Amino acid sequence: MAKISINIASGAIEKPNVVVGIDLGTTNSLVAYTPKGELHPKLVGNNQNFIVPSVVHFDDNNIPLVGSKAKQLIAQHPERTIFSVKRLLGKNYHDISAHTDYLGYKIINDDQDNLVKVNIAGNYYNPIQLSAIILQELKEKAQIFLNATVDKAVITVPAYFNDAQRQATRDAGKLAGLDVLRIVNEPTAASLAYGIDKTDQDKTILVFDLGGGTFDVSILRLEQGVFEVIATNGDTYLGGDDIDKIIVKYWLELNGLEIENLNQNQIQSLRIAAETAKIALSNSPELPFNTPVQFGNVTLNTYIEYHTLVALAEPILSKTMNCVSMALKDAKLLANEIDEIVLVGGSTRFPEIYKLLSDKFPGVQINNQINPDEVVALGAAIEADILAGNRKDILLLDVTPLSLGIETAGALMDVLIPRNSKIPTRIGREYTTSVDGQINLKIAVYQGERELVTQNRKLGEFILKNIPAMPAGFPKIEIQFAINADGVLKVAAKELRSGVMQEVDIQPTYGLTDAEVETMLESGMINAQADIELRLEKEAQNEAEQLIYTAKRFLEKHGILLTSEEILGTEQRIESLRGLLLSNNRNEILAGVEALNEYTRPFAERVMDVAVSTALKSKKVQDI
Ligand code: ADP
Ligand code: MG
Repeated sequence: MAKISINIASGAIEKPNVVVGIDLGTTNSLVAYTPKGELHPKLVGNNQNFIVPSVVHFDDNNIPLVGSKAKQLIAQHPERTIFSVKRLLGKNYHDISAHTDYLGYKIINDDQDNLVKVNIAGNYYNPIQLSAIILQELKEKAQIFLNATVDKAVITVPAYFNDAQRQATRDAGKLAGLDVLRIVNEPTAASLAYGIDKTDQDKTILVFDLGGGTFDVSILRLEQGVFEVIATNGDTYLGGDDIDKIIVKYWLELNGLEIENLNQNQIQSLRIAAETAKIALSNSPELPFNTPVQFGNVTLNTYIEYHTLVALAEPILSKTMNCVSMALKDAKLLANEIDEIVLVGGSTRFPEIYKLLSDKFPGVQINNQINPDEVVALGAAIEADILAGNRKDILLLDVTPLSLGIETAGALMDVLIPRNSKIPTRIGREYTTSVDGQINLKIAVYQGERELVTQNRKLGEFILKNIPAMPAGFPKIEIQFAINADGVLKVAAKELRSGVMQEVDIQPTYGLTDAEVETMLESGMINAQADIELRLEKEAQNEAEQLIYTAKRFLEKHGILLTSEEILGTEQRIESLRGLLLSNNRNEILAGVEALNEYTRPFAERVMDVAVSTALKSKKVQDI
């Protein structure tokens, strides 16, 4: 039965507010929620339309389109249709350069340590913005389906995601207008969906997640109701898509065709048919697949039986089992020490997987009753319901009420400990200097949800002194934040090459009332959109300034190795980038950065020594 709430003071009908769980997948995304007063989560969507493909297409007017319709446009408009954006989150160009040929869209090679950007018809998007577009779609879908306000969510990430990738996911949520109450590991969410935590026993769980393009094994330890990831393994380029590809290859051979003789559209339609065949065979292994594909007046034979598919998929399946063995080895566990297995990811519907796992883990319970492509979102919805305070049977652990971070170049807030992190907690991150010979570094600690430190609350600052003089970017300064069980924050800074260090203790909640915390949170949400845009602009400016500095220094040091034409060309681009800096237009600044980078790359590569390239690694703390 539906209920409505009426605000007695204003007479307005108020929509309920629902906290949702979101599985933001590489291939597919889903949203789930727990209906009020119930214990079991449900998926958002009508007529089994739960899955939203994680694909964004930009039309001629740069209006984004998300989901199935966007997915259909991949072959037609590869440069305007972004898929697998999750692979780019929190990464720089170097991290992904080996795999860019697989993507049909244009990734900017800035040859630096900056986060990846995608150029779509002259506009620059980073993976956070692209993920935010997907999250926005999921949010809207949920709001319409639930007829409720959805502005709080739990979002899942792979267990191996590092701090930068987790922060990027949080930022994407914020940009989509979602207050991200918590980032939860996908294998943990799947275990929650199976209620594995509802026991007094401690357990060791192996989560096997084979999705569209990625494979993850995680081994979790459940102790006193708390999950800990003890080992992860997998392959970030292995999944159901690879099975589709080998079916395509098999069909081509069957028909005596070469892939080179097919156009993009034909390849695409064969891939779609291959996925259909794979799903049909895995759902009814006893029925051969035999739906011919038509290319003009040529009919392609697509006959395939389940046992043929199993034989073809063997190399993929044995790779997954190798990863399982390696995860066990890392966790220093034997197969018989695993108490339960959880199957996650659409590709684990392939019956062979269950068979291989039950052979390797005889007698171990394999949880596969919940649809493996839905289980992560359902688990996230359970966590969301707990955080919404709807579950009185569950105790919440102590968490930090506001984010804690330091000031980086451009007065930006760099969050080290996101709000809602369980305490005690500890995190370290590496920074560097932005000016040659810098010997002192100011570390200013702030608390709050805004992107600019000036709008957050300053908790204190100290100076790391006596750093030996080194070129900009050379010092490795590790900043550590640790909150103990009493909520005291210890901040330590250490230059790793020289061992110089300094630390302070801070009481973050000192003097803050609950109401003040509330106001700071609200202000963070209200200003999220504008704040993040401002930050992107500042980041583009920082990037441009740093590049101008590096390029000028490069000319001074290595000018002698360049032709006068190269020097002139570089100087012109430096000047025009300077001009663009005044424009405050992010896309223009980034285009200028790209132009200068593109131009200098060939001869920079010629002379650039290792020292300079390492100098460009890691973030720069503001200098004093
Ligand atoms: P991700 O977590 O990477 O976003 P999913 O968990 O949604 O991905 O898995 C998508 C993959 O699952 C696709 O490759 C799809 O073809 C595959 N898949 C879906 N249903 C089946 C099925 N019945 N049998 C085999 N593979 C399937
Ligand atoms: Mg997944």
